[in-house]
Amino acid sequence: AKPAVSVLGLGMMGSALAAAFLKAGHPVTVWNRTAAKTGPLVAQGAEPAADVAGAVGASELLVLCLTTNDNVRGILEPVAGSLRGLTIANLTNGTPAQGRELAAWAAGHGARYLDGGIMASPQMIAGPDAYVFYSGDPKAFEEYEGTFGALGGARYVGEDAGRAALYDFALLIGMYGMGIGTMHAFALAKAAGIPAKDLADPLREWLNAMALFITDEAEALDTGEHLTDVSSLAVNQAALPNLLNTLSDEGIPTEFFQPLERLINRAVEEGYGADGLTRLPDLLTPRR
Ligand code: NDP
Repeated sequence: AKPAVSVLGLGMMGSALAAAFLKAGHPVTVWNRTAAKTGPLVAQGAEPAADVAGAVGASELLVLCLTTNDNVRGILEPVAGSLRGLTIANLTNGTPAQGRELAAWAAGHGARYLDGGIMASPQMIAGPDAYVFYSGDPKAFEEYEGTFGALGGARYVGEDAGRAALYDFALLIGMYGMGIGTMHAFALAKAAGIPAKDLADPLREWLNAMALFITDEAEALDTGEHLTDVSSLAVNQAALPNLLNTLSDEGIPTEFFQPLERLINRAVEEGYGADGLTRLPDLLTPRR
């Protein structure tokens, strides 16, 4: 028989997780602060728990997906005495430090802890592109890897419980960076009277083409070989004022890009003008 799972937190994401476990044939118990949200899942075969203690008592695997890790502590503290021997898979968004704190807290109550970072929207869960980063107790991951497979890919990134959140945020930081660029590109098009749809295809094609450089960039970072035949920091320094002026000529704020300009200027001042953009992460990394 497939392992039983209790899902606590049935927002947009938690509901998708519970539905995916049900679809994969797991016995699923559900709990949500606002009890009405259990309805659709009960209709799909889930067992509703009357309270957190009921959900904790129903399965050896607890999957949590609340708004914040403070919420997670808030619901688990009162039942801490019942966690011994259970596995907590906390898929709530949080910092690496919070992941490590919760792991220590769970260990203090005899529970195994995995922290997770969901790389999917609720609609993508169980689909081909969805996956979750997990970190923490390796034996717990090994035991439940198949169960987690119901949600999509399961990528274990290490024993340090903070690791999954670190990977999650690294990807989100990349995404938000792209979002900041996209937002300004559309603002520029709009200010110039170009319909957004005319920009959409070239922008998407360009970003896809640029994303292909990521692997080479990683190699440059790991080997420390920053000399480039792609595009030097000196030439980027020369071109960046044109980018900023193009924005400001249309009345669009340039402040999101000014720190980039300062960073490139600093790199060139420090003698890295012939290097590629891969020099920049080094300048952002604190010396240890
Ligand atoms: P929702 O706002 O849809 O759901 C939030 C859930 O948290 C609800 O079940 C809510 O209960 C519960 N909750 C909030 N505060 C408390 C509390 N004090 N005590 C008990 N329960 C509480 O959010 P999502 O489902 O979208 O997100 C959940 C987590 O998943 C977040 O950490 C989010 O960052 C993460 N995530 C979401 C993604 C997405 O695309 N949606 C993608 C990747 C990660 P109630 O129904 O009673 O309000």
